[in-house]
Amino acid sequence: MYRTHSNGELRLENLGEQVILAGWVQKIRDKGFMVWVDLRDRYGITQLIFDEDRTSKVLIEQAKALGREFVIQVKGEVIERVSKNKNIPTGEIEILVKELKILNKSEVPPFTIEDKTDGGDELRMKYRYLDIRRNPVKNNLIFRHKVAMEVRKYLSDEGFIEVETPVLIKSTPEGARDFVVPSRMNKGQFYALPQSPQTFKQLLMVGGMDKYFQIVKCFRDEDLRADRQPEFTQIDCEMAFVEQEDILNTFEGLTKHLLKEIKGIDIDKFPRMTYNEAMKRYGNDKPDIRFGMEFGELNEVAKHKDFGVFNNAELVVGIAVPGGNSYSRKDIDKLIEWVKRPQVGALGMVYVRCNEDGSFKSSVDKFYNQNDLANWAKVTNAKAGDLICVLSGTATKVRPQLSALRMEMATRLGLRNPKEFAPLWITDFPLLEWDEETERYHAMHHPFTSPKIEDIELLDTNPGKVRANAYDLVLNGNEIGGGSIRIHDKKMQALMFKHLGFTPEKATEQFGFLMNAFEYGAPPHGGLAFGLDRLVAILGGQETIRDFIAFPKNNKGRDVMIDAPSAIDEEQLKELNLKINL
Ligand code: ASP
Repeated sequence: MYRTHSNGELRLENLGEQVILAGWVQKIRDKGFMVWVDLRDRYGITQLIFDEDRTSKVLIEQAKALGREFVIQVKGEVIERVSKNKNIPTGEIEILVKELKILNKSEVPPFTIEDKTDGGDELRMKYRYLDIRRNPVKNNLIFRHKVAMEVRKYLSDEGFIEVETPVLIKSTPEGARDFVVPSRMNKGQFYALPQSPQTFKQLLMVGGMDKYFQIVKCFRDEDLRADRQPEFTQIDCEMAFVEQEDILNTFEGLTKHLLKEIKGIDIDKFPRMTYNEAMKRYGNDKPDIRFGMEFGELNEVAKHKDFGVFNNAELVVGIAVPGGNSYSRKDIDKLIEWVKRPQVGALGMVYVRCNEDGSFKSSVDKFYNQNDLANWAKVTNAKAGDLICVLSGTATKVRPQLSALRMEMATRLGLRNPKEFAPLWITDFPLLEWDEETERYHAMHHPFTSPKIEDIELLDTNPGKVRANAYDLVLNGNEIGGGSIRIHDKKMQALMFKHLGFTPEKATEQFGFLMNAFEYGAPPHGGLAFGLDRLVAILGGQETIRDFIAFPKNNKGRDVMIDAPSAIDEEQLKELNLKINL
């Protein structure tokens, strides 16, 4: 037997027991005639004591020869500690060691295995197996497991069946590039890794599976923006014989269950907002509604004076930053520089100080009087002591710019409380979005999303205005899930492909299998997928998903531990009939 107990288990009740423990050496304190060792495993730390008087000199010499992260096994007796450590559950006892066995030695680890380590990101990733020994990472993985268990429990209880779908497939368009895998047996042909199991889950509905879910890896070859992973995990779900309302209610139920079981938080009904309203009020389709600073559109009160910048702008829009009038001139200049950074891209910013005495002082006093500015304050809901920040330009540019400022100010003001949870459904997304680069419409969600019946006739006249039966679930300013009611009619699907610029041949070649299936009694269906990594991170009160993934990739898509991706042998290339020209 390697161990009778874990290192997090023993208490005063165990005094006098003979035990065997195993684990890693966390710390050694050498007092000459006495040596203490902190022994660590997944469950905690237990202090070992080697005492010349009570045991043997040989043993104490052995203890002195130990190094950090050695794997050892000890036999000994549980005794009461003289000086107790109230910070750990085993802090009242220690083990008087009678036998010590080194199970494996260790090199000195490249960073300290402590809650706060001296290791930088890259080093931690290279030695991720050591990083996982640290409490913060270990606890995140355990936390993730708990969330996944609760998801499985809830959905199974609701009658969902977890079905595995294949990984070597044909392209599923979710708006990214596919990772491809060459086929040895079919020369010159490739599998694609799923960007999501979208088409398979729809085929499961045609197969009568009715309520499906899967906790599943998805792969998207995108330029990696901060905090994205080329492979990530979804809680992928689909239901047949449902309307949008049924889906929203079912997955609101799941989210409530998680908030309750994992965070102990009860949330009543999740608020809902249409996409258009979210864009107008927050400039963003995933607004963080834990705080205010809603947009005030100022066209009516700011245009048609003598200020050309505003007169020429499609949209003039502002927010009131609470307490912002305390900003010095220098602070405001810095803020203006901040919105002008290429990442935000504003051309400038107009501001209005709302003084305590009810007067205003703005950067455009030349053009606007106190009365005008009072109107701005009304529209942006500004109070005395606030700072109104105003941007202008084309609506599609200026909204995300002001949204970025809103989030930045909220972060600076500490309004994004990680202990507070504010879910929100966004509905009625546009079906299509115009892509400047390819100069054509793309599906905003994916090509299988059904348009709203009442908007179908707009497809020919004003495609950008067609709304979809598509929805996102937003939590604290992050999109944690999204889905849609699907098209289940072959003609409609063919029409959709046509609008997306597919020729009938191309549509058949790529999606013939799905269109065929629609000819054999496809039920009405819809679903959604949650991003598990992000959901877990947010529930864990953090926003970086990397810390919740056991073996993440870096922001160049590399696994620096196993060194992937990497070149393959000439021999292997030949077998796959591939030539590399670099
Ligand atoms: N397949 C979609 C996605 O990955 C989710 C869905 O529509 O159910 O975003």
